[in-house]
Amino acid sequence: MTRIGAAGELFGTNGVRGIANKELTAEMALNLGRTIGSLRKGRIAIAGDTRISTGMLKAAVIAGITSVGSDAIDLGVAPTPALQFYVKSRDANAGVIVTASHNPREYNGIKFVSEDGTEFTREMDEESERVYKSKLFSPASWDNVGQVYSDDCIRLYIDGIKKRVDSEKIASRKFRVVVDCGNGTASYTTPILLKELGCEVISINSHPDGTFPQRSSEPEEKNVWLLKEVVKAVDADLGVAHDGDADRATFVDERGNFIPEDVMLALVAKYYVREKKGKVVTPVSSSRCVEDTVREEGGEIIYTAVGSPVVVKVMREVNAVFGGEGNGGLIFPEFQLTRDGGMSAAKVLELIAFENKPISELVSQVPRYYTLKEKLPCRDKIRLLEGLREAFPEANFTDGARMDFEDGWLLIRPSGTEPIVRVFAEAETQSRAKELLELGKDAVRRIT
Ligand code: MG
Repeated sequence: MTRIGAAGELFGTNGVRGIANKELTAEMALNLGRTIGSLRKGRIAIAGDTRISTGMLKAAVIAGITSVGSDAIDLGVAPTPALQFYVKSRDANAGVIVTASHNPREYNGIKFVSEDGTEFTREMDEESERVYKSKLFSPASWDNVGQVYSDDCIRLYIDGIKKRVDSEKIASRKFRVVVDCGNGTASYTTPILLKELGCEVISINSHPDGTFPQRSSEPEEKNVWLLKEVVKAVDADLGVAHDGDADRATFVDERGNFIPEDVMLALVAKYYVREKKGKVVTPVSSSRCVEDTVREEGGEIIYTAVGSPVVVKVMREVNAVFGGEGNGGLIFPEFQLTRDGGMSAAKVLELIAFENKPISELVSQVPRYYTLKEKLPCRDKIRLLEGLREAFPEANFTDGARMDFEDGWLLIRPSGTEPIVRVFAEAETQSRAKELLELGKDAVRRIT
């Protein structure tokens, strides 16, 4: 988790994030509003998630934006990808999303979006941080203070997705789908989107509630037990779960089994590559099942460092057909270059409609690997990386060191924000994964 104060930086991998009113205060939100209002003068769209502190922080950001002479367009409560689609489609000069995504309920966050709807890059965040810390804001004269408008991005977003999937094909199948919005922003979009795509929708945890009363906002397997039960109980074709700001989606098959995020990434990648060939972009931490399926269909896999802004950057550079992270963050470039939970739900239904098989059968065609992860303390990351270069000269150093073997791979990746190093190992058998993990841990211990 990115915390304010980690490494002395305000902006982490997901903008500014921390415990609301303690680590992330209204004063900070005000100055972040002044920052974006100064950096991207003009019309700035802003939306937020369902958290209790979102209204407070959003009001402060709006005050900051307008105080330096930019206009604020308040889009209310909406998923991150809906705000991003609005910024791109309605020619806003920038966007701001107030959300802590999947973090616990006491957290909140503020993230900036560029005029094309993509998340700010690392360089842009660094520039924002310089402006924020300088506190050299120029207040607008009384008659030049920005105005606050309100608008809606939900309808635009739902209609945008419907235009980019085969709506008729999906509707013809009359799917029964259970949607678990985790009491987050998807409550405003996914159940409506799927109903309009002709599905019978059964929704759970789909009223906005920032206390997240039923489950944690992270849609991982252990948190979506109720979704699994309901899918079985109502004999649904698919279950969909979102994180708090609905830029990610995870899935449950028609038997009530959770589909691992990497496996779903591989399955959707296969669907795209089969149709369009081309390149698929994913971080070095993704399972080899993604590479296997992409290669099998004649596509090319391109690895990046971890983090969605860099995946998006590379997708644009190589004109990728698809990309994503192994945490349910899927990116559909024909719609927009960002992780998109609503589009993921619609695309997976389109995939099932075209393949005309139950999702469990499609998932079973994706090769499975055993994955092990462990964290070790690490204070001197530079020394570690130098040592790894000596020990594994053949490794891929895109982000940490990744060593590929015939039957598996090993990734040793120092954390950007904490004094730890993460060791990932993946192999065809559990014993080999364990062997690779030990190899990685030994290397870290030897060097540090
Ligand atoms: Mg999220």
